[in-house]
Amino acid sequence: MNQYETIYEKIKDADLVLIGIGKELSQKKDIEQEQEKKERIHLFNQLYDVIGNKNYFLITTNTDDCIYDSKFEADKIVAPCGSNFRWQCKAACCKDIWDKKIEKCPHCQGEVVQNIWKNQPYVEEGYLKQWSVYTRWLQQTVNKKLVILELGENFETPSVMRWPFEKITYINEKAYFVRVGEKFSQLTEEISNKNRAVSIAMNSKVFIENLKSIVK
Ligand SMILES: [Zn+2]
Repeated sequence: MNQYETIYEKIKDADLVLIGIGKELSQKKDIEQEQEKKERIHLFNQLYDVIGNKNYFLITTNTDDCIYDSKFEADKIVAPCGSNFRWQCKAACCKDIWDKKIEKCPHCQGEVVQNIWKNQPYVEEGYLKQWSVYTRWLQQTVNKKLVILELGENFETPSVMRWPFEKITYINEKAYFVRVGEKFSQLTEEISNKNRAVSIAMNSKVFIENLKSIVK
């Protein structure tokens, strides 16, 4: 079996699949061409087709909301780094989050900025409800056959995906972890010694396409 066949067999055999979508698969420019966006949605749909009807959850550190235009279901997605399409008070004087840009904060009359973690202080209320759905989902992975696919994550916010995924893999003897990325696919020693984790130094877009190509 080649690498992709092995991974696909693991997915088919898994009880649960946890997917992490990182920066490599994010919108690259402030204004994205329609075509580029279409291609990314298509890519996510290819991944969805690979996952099939598995019990999955998807976490992304991206803030472009593109994943919500794919076949992945919104109630099985969490985006803790926020959204480029939601707005908050720059000073975070209130927990309010707005779906469109307003001129100024109605409470302090201050500036309004995108509700993303890069804008500190970050109003976290935008994702917390879904975060609790995610943590409940994670609880049921204990002792289950879990496949974790981490695709294209870097080191900007390692506490969101990288570190927790490593920890889950370390603890759950039935977990199988696949870390893909052009630059940052390295695994910690504790994990790579366990034989339940693979590092694939490849652009995650190419990885998804290759993986999809073996699915009938
Ligand atoms: Zn304010």
